[in-house]
Amino acid sequence: MDDFIRLSCFLAVLLLMLAWEGRRPFRRFDQSRLRRLSIHLGLMLFNFACLRLLSGGGAYFAALYAEQRQIGLLHLLQTPPWLGIAVGLIVLDFAIYLQHIVFHRVPRLWRLHKVHHVDLGFDASTAIRFHPGEMVLSMYYKVLLVLALGIPPIAVLSFEIILNACALFNHGNVRIPQAWEWRLRCLLITPDMHRVHHSSDPSETNSNYGFSVPLWDFLCGTYRAAPRLGHARMEIGLSEERDPVSNLSLRRLLWLPFT
Ligand SMILES: [Zn+2]
Repeated sequence: MDDFIRLSCFLAVLLLMLAWEGRRPFRRFDQSRLRRLSIHLGLMLFNFACLRLLSGGGAYFAALYAEQRQIGLLHLLQTPPWLGIAVGLIVLDFAIYLQHIVFHRVPRLWRLHKVHHVDLGFDASTAIRFHPGEMVLSMYYKVLLVLALGIPPIAVLSFEIILNACALFNHGNVRIPQAWEWRLRCLLITPDMHRVHHSSDPSETNSNYGFSVPLWDFLCGTYRAAPRLGHARMEIGLSEERDPVSNLSLRRLLWLPFT
């Protein structure tokens, strides 16, 4: 049931973003949109199979287990449900922000995360372009956190739905009018803010690590307002990987961390 809810929300936001990008794309990329979407969806399905195989029911099932056995700090402290949900959402979001920094800083982990960053385009489909190794490690990390804190299942499910929706939105190849964009980015990571993170300039790649709220970037000093060359001229991707053919080869993406 949790998979059905997650998938329905994901597809609804993906379709909305595809329609928005189709109507008013911010930038034109050389790659076909359909090819990008099919390769990235293929990678997502492969990741889903790997996650099922290597982490079972994942963080949601870990939360159900923690609830049944009453394990984890929140159960120990007998916090009211609303507080458990709030703490769970905040801790998980900050944990994913920290995980993102670690995947950039540790060379072996960066090899996995690079699959996301070598994308020569930047659109909603980029949000699902991750190496299965990164997905599985991230799931183990979330399972450990959920068990240690006893995060409620509803908080885990809501967090994953919100995270997926935010990632699809902030990778969108769209532009929000400036006056609205500045107000919105105080609360939510906008495509303009996250696009900076996909710049080929290393100082820009190593900024704006958040996936949903900009708060952690503001507080931890990793916020960067705009790319040096401007949004229309900035180079997307990484300077060392610019072959458009291998960039969309599923086999190449899976092997990239080992080459
Ligand atoms: Zn990154």
